[in-house]
Amino acid sequence: MIEQEMDFENRIVSPEYSATDDDTELSLRPKTLDDYIGQDKVKDNLSIYIKAALKRKESLDHVLLYGPPGLGKTTLSSIIAREMGVNLRVTSGPAIEKQGDLVAILTSLNEGDVLFIDEIHRLSRNVEEILYPAMEDFSLDIILGKGPSARSIRLDVPHFTLVGATTRSGQLTAPLRDRFGVLLRLELYTPEQLGQIVKRSAGILGIPIDDEGALEIASRSRGTPRIANRLLKRVRDIAQIEFNGEINVEVAQSALARFEIDELGLDDFDRKMLTSIINHYGGGPVGLDTLAAAVGEEAITIEDVYEPYLMQIGFLTRTPRGRCVTQSAYEHLGIKNNNNTQQSLL
Ligand code: ADP
Repeated sequence: MIEQEMDFENRIVSPEYSATDDDTELSLRPKTLDDYIGQDKVKDNLSIYIKAALKRKESLDHVLLYGPPGLGKTTLSSIIAREMGVNLRVTSGPAIEKQGDLVAILTSLNEGDVLFIDEIHRLSRNVEEILYPAMEDFSLDIILGKGPSARSIRLDVPHFTLVGATTRSGQLTAPLRDRFGVLLRLELYTPEQLGQIVKRSAGILGIPIDDEGALEIASRSRGTPRIANRLLKRVRDIAQIEFNGEINVEVAQSALARFEIDELGLDDFDRKMLTSIINHYGGGPVGLDTLAAAVGEEAITIEDVYEPYLMQIGFLTRTPRGRCVTQSAYEHLGIKNNNNTQQSLL
């Protein structure tokens, strides 16, 4: 049998932004901290820091947001700018190729502005070096010319707030991480919180949905608002074509079954990865790189994008010797676990 290539780009439960998310994603973004559902610890901390900075009439300390994609890091950065009453400038690590690109951005900011750098761990070293004095002293050290005639000039930049986003804080170099005053970790959302997000989004998009329908979509959204919003829109399509347009639990179940997303939000890829650990590696432990090669995905993507949810629902564990599938995953997949050593490991 020829195995079909998985289409990762268009995976419906991918937490990463995809072109199919279109511009409704923008309209669904909460605009204030009150509108932002869940992440209570992060919100409490931020709200104190924002109030204190406003009171002192200073810019907010630099903020590092970390956590899996689709949890609301970009959204939070725009809320920070709005609550501080300043402009937001959005860019990303890979988009800033040269030192000059960053110098141009920094010198064009206004006092107090928020600069959001997504995937900040992907900044190149020499761009990062420009960032250190800018974050610390709001100045830039620029070298003009080359060779013996080269000279260095110091340039002031406005007091700005850098909001950096990354999937893991450990991916950042120590000197960069140390320059952030506020480090906030975003957690996967509970189905109840995602249910509220689905209801809120349905309200904005004018989609009729009841509480059970919203919770059904929420519990299959892998703890991730971006996936919840995407599933809501896909379920709406089915509701309009095959039902009377309203989403209730039956409509949601029927639509999601059609997309082959099971009741826990697992899709083909998850099942393939888990069964591959079971069938080829006796349920684990298997090293990340070996697993990545076996399922044809990059190790870093497996680690940052797919694993957090599988670990949160207790289907996968990370041990020093590699990944292990748990008994509950066996049960969910309907596979008998004959492996006693595996059992004793768990
Ligand atoms: P990230 O930058 O972490 O990848 P985004 O900020 O782009 O995530 O969020 C993705 C989508 O999820 C946004 O369009 C937004 O509508 C929704 N979203 C994220 N967090 C929340 C939240 N706490 N409440 C409501 N919607 C949210």
